[in-house]
Amino acid sequence: MQPSYDVVIIGGGVIGSSVAYHLSAHPDFTGRVAVVERDPTYAASSSSLSTSAIRQQFATPANIRMSAYSIDFLRRVPELLGVEGHDADIGLREPGYLILGTPDAIPAFEARNATQRACGVHAELLAPAEMRRRHPWLRVDDLGIGSYGPEKEGWFDGPALLQAFRRKARAQGVEYVAGTVTGLEMVGAGRVGAVLLADGARLPAGAVVNAAGPWSGQVGRMAGLDVPVVPLKRCVFVFDSPERIPHAPFIFDTSGFIFRPEGHLYICGTTPTAENAHDDFGLEVDHALFDDTIWPALAHRIPGFERLRMLRAWAGLYEHNLFDHSAIIGWHPDVGNLMLACGFSGHGMMHAPAAGAGASELILYREARSVDLAPFAFERIAANQPIPEHVY
Ligand SMILES: Cc1cc2nc3c(=O)[nH]c(=O)nc-3n(C[C@H](O)[C@H](O)[C@H](O)COP(=O)(O)OP(=O)(O)OC[C@H]3O[C@@H](n4cnc5c(N)ncnc54)[C@H](O)[C@@H]3O)c2cc1C
Repeated sequence: MQPSYDVVIIGGGVIGSSVAYHLSAHPDFTGRVAVVERDPTYAASSSSLSTSAIRQQFATPANIRMSAYSIDFLRRVPELLGVEGHDADIGLREPGYLILGTPDAIPAFEARNATQRACGVHAELLAPAEMRRRHPWLRVDDLGIGSYGPEKEGWFDGPALLQAFRRKARAQGVEYVAGTVTGLEMVGAGRVGAVLLADGARLPAGAVVNAAGPWSGQVGRMAGLDVPVVPLKRCVFVFDSPERIPHAPFIFDTSGFIFRPEGHLYICGTTPTAENAHDDFGLEVDHALFDDTIWPALAHRIPGFERLRMLRAWAGLYEHNLFDHSAIIGWHPDVGNLMLACGFSGHGMMHAPAAGAGASELILYREARSVDLAPFAFERIAANQPIPEHVY
């Protein structure tokens, strides 16, 4: 006879594993949890292919709160996620984010800064000359403004965070099941009764969490639901440069490229000129993107990078929420025991701690207590109330 579970989580990436960890760590939870993950190597999972940066500089209080909760958690990972014999070291570094703006962008930067300050984020607005003084390697003559977050912003080892959540969750009794979910057995229209796997296994479940990352739309369809999450390919390029760039923060350029140091190397990426189709889960690297778009923009902004050497590249998938590019977290209004934890659209690594904490409380109490998840509810889609987050 198949075991039955209080909660079955579909997808064992950083989000599913954070939910599993938080639920199993909670003193009020005594149930049985399974995480179904089809690829325990996580080769194509977003959590393996992420650049894993965290910032506080969002435009909406909802996302700022998620970041504030999460950075506090990330700082405490060694203490919270260590398992006997295994340190939980995620290599968190906090050199800050520097977001660059053209002269036209000054009013928008000032408005976002006011929101951030009201939420306790003390990002500094910098004039071009001040940016040049701090970073003599930066070209500023076409800039109007920069926004620099001096604390709680930086990057970490994303796969290490995923493994730390997973290891700790297992140590707390969560079962990881290697298998592919192929169907959801419905009890009438309004509840999921069991999760069905490709090998014929049937996992009866009290509640089910859709944390399938870029595949969350597919899992939604198994319950007859339209979950507007699709894969959005993003390429990452690693390069070396004879010209060293000391003390660089994470940079968002006006052209759209992102850049940050990685050890003694550098990594970068950008928004591609053409996006992949919504059913294309391919991971081929677009090398022309680096040669034609990123490198010229990088060499313009940081002239020392004219002689850089690209070393390697990879592609990964954002779990892109077509509606408003923000996470969907909460119970589905039509299938009362199906929780969505997906659509993070490029923010899932940084917001995994807050999402996991809040989702586990929704399961326990039907309300999130650690962090306000109400703005991320699925209901905002039917109500046509997008989260007005600024998308870089
Ligand atoms: C290039 C790149 C850069 C990024 N940079 C950042 C960043 O700087 N900061 C940040 O916060 N975020 C960033 N992100 C986004 C972040 O990585 C994701 O939001 C996050 O990893 C999503 O985690 P997840 O657990 O939802 O998805 P995943 O890690 O993809 O996990 C979902 C899992 O579900 C499994 N699955 C799917 N379907 C099934 C099924 N039917 N049966 C069983 N298992 C299934 C998959 O195998 C997968 O392991 C980036 C992403 C990419 C690709």
